[in-house]
Amino acid sequence: MSKQSIHTQIVHQKIDQTEATTSKTTPIYQTSAFTFRDLDHIEQYYAGEVPYLYTRENNPNTAELGQTIAELEQAPAGVASSSGISAIMAGILAVAQAGDHIVAAEDLYGGTQQLITKQLASLGIDYTLVDFSSNDAITDAIQPNTKLLYTESITNPFLRVEAIESLVQIARDHQIKTMVDNTFATPYLLQPYTLGVDLVAHSATKYLGGHSDVTSGVIVGDPDLIAKANQKVVGLGMNLSPYEAWLTVRGVKTLALRMREQSANAKQVATHLSENNGVKHVYYPEFVSHHGNGAIVTIELAHNLDVTTFFKSLGWIKIAPTLAGVETTVSYPSKTSHRALTDEERNKLGINDYVVRISIGIEEGDDIVDQLNQAITAAKTV
Ligand SMILES: *Cc1c(COP(=O)(O)O)cnc(C)c1O
Repeated sequence: MSKQSIHTQIVHQKIDQTEATTSKTTPIYQTSAFTFRDLDHIEQYYAGEVPYLYTRENNPNTAELGQTIAELEQAPAGVASSSGISAIMAGILAVAQAGDHIVAAEDLYGGTQQLITKQLASLGIDYTLVDFSSNDAITDAIQPNTKLLYTESITNPFLRVEAIESLVQIARDHQIKTMVDNTFATPYLLQPYTLGVDLVAHSATKYLGGHSDVTSGVIVGDPDLIAKANQKVVGLGMNLSPYEAWLTVRGVKTLALRMREQSANAKQVATHLSENNGVKHVYYPEFVSHHGNGAIVTIELAHNLDVTTFFKSLGWIKIAPTLAGVETTVSYPSKTSHRALTDEERNKLGINDYVVRISIGIEEGDDIVDQLNQAITAAKTV
């Protein structure tokens, strides 16, 4: 592996250049198919000597995104897809089919939880959701037909940092695969494949793209499993468009700068809010990586605050049911990401009506702290 810093690696990805052009950035191959000189040329495609035939199957821009993230995760192979959810679905279907069973963390991203409990269950893939902070709970949930342990490297909204090494050990002891959603950490903070995880998924909609202007996904990992995941992406039509792939790759180039700045701002916000008596609890990881602890801060407001007033008093901080853009935004898990859960499920996870998730941006840290303090003050004086 390269000795370059990840800051250098992130910017200097190999770009696809034809012999005729030497453009500084990869062109957008906005084409649904590729042409062939003659029948021999088609044969060359099927012999693996010519890379592209039809964009749903492969395209230079989507290939570039898959390879870029594979390299940053230090994994041998990767494939891009239409969204984080489709990347996760392709990864799970690469490992499990009807009649199989998967064990997943109970505190997953809401959309992933729905994917597992509704969509994949309807295709005959059985599941058990358990508390992944307990190795015994994981081990007890494993059945003879269990094929996969599934979790997130940093969970949402309470930012539990998964003990990946012990998870990998449990999986190996039972000869089953592991898959980790690394969206919140990004390869800048954590590289789960290097810790033995078989498949690493991303919602590239979030930090990889970084500008809230694209929906895309990537899955990287073991080459045989990625080949199977790629068959699912192609065969189920979960491919990413060339333009969206290009936008995502463009975003990735500033990943290190954004994550460094956003993590530093997040640490500042977490420190200040833990000293504010309008905040009952601050959730922010103590240690994720020497590059930082991530850019999400979740708070539980004191229960004597008026939550409606808090959300009305945020000034330039917008309310958005997403995260990871360059602007600071807040979301309200109980009414957005975790809305589909029952009250009982939400309570079990600790998501009450005072929980607010803050996605910290690249603004000046002091300004973010001031604006949040203003909203808290306003919500106290109602
Ligand atoms: C947003 C998100 C997803 C889903 O990704 P989409 O791009 O919206 O399909 C999956 N996992 C995590 C952790 C997310 O934040």
